Amino acid sequence: MPNLAERLATVKDQISNECTRLGRSEPTLIVVTKNHSSELVDRLYRLGERNFGENRVQEGAPKALELGKADINWHLIGQLQTNKVKQALEFANTVHSLDRQSLLTELTKRTIERENPLEVFIQVNLTSDDARGGVQPNQTLMLADAVAQVPTLKLMGLMAVASLENEPEADFERIAELSKRLRAIHPSAHGLSIGMSGDYLQALNYGATHLRIGTAITGNRQY
Ligand SMILES: *Cc1c(COP(=O)(O)O)cnc(C)c1O
Repeated sequence: MPNLAERLATVKDQISNECTRLGRSEPTLIVVTKNHSSELVDRLYRLGERNFGENRVQEGAPKALELGKADINWHLIGQLQTNKVKQALEFANTVHSLDRQSLLTELTKRTIERENPLEVFIQVNLTSDDARGGVQPNQTLMLADAVAQVPTLKLMGLMAVASLENEPEADFERIAELSKRLRAIHPSAHGLSIGMSGDYLQALNYGATHLRIGTAITGNRQY
C-alpha cells in the first residue's frame, strides 16, 4: 500500500504528464479532506499542499480553526445552506457551490464589508435529478450575470460533478461548452472546477482549471 506522500506524488505526476501531453498549463489541485482529520491536512500541508476542499461547513470551519494556517486556501465544495453562510465565510476562501439566487442574496449581504472579494464558482447540475446540487444549465448564464454585478464576489467560472448516468466525457463536454458561452460574456470567469479521483485526467482534456481530488490522494474516507 503506497503511503500518503507516494499517492500525492503519483497523482501530481500524472497531472503534470497529462498537461505536458496536452500542451496546457497546470490546474490548481484541491485536495479534498472531508471526513479526514485535521492531522491528515497537516501532513499534506507539510508536503507542500495549500488548497484543501471540504464539503460541510460544520466540518471545515473547526478544522481550519484548529490548523490555524493563514496560507491555506479553503474551498467549500458542498451544498451550502443560507443559514450556514456566515460560518462558511469565517473559513472558506472560495465557494464552489453557488447555485441559486437566495444563496447569492445571502452571500452578497454577508460579504458587504469584505476587502478582498470572495471567489465563487457557479455549480451546474448536469443530471436530471433536481435534488443534486447545482443550477440547471439553462439558468446558469442568468445567475452568472447576477454574480458579476456584486463587487464583493469574484466570479471564477463553473463547477460540476460528473453524473453517474453518463460517461464523464459527455458531461465534461457539456460543461466546457457552457463555460465557453460564459467566457464570451464574462472573459475573466474562465475557471472550470471539474475532475475528481475517478476522472481527473479526462477533466484536463476539457479545460479543468481546478481539480477536486479526495480518495486518490487521501485513501478511503472514514464515515
Ligand atoms: C468528495 C468530493 C470530491 C472528491 O471526491 P473523490 O472521488 O474522493 O476524489 C470532489 N468534489 C465534491 C463536490 C465532493 O463532494
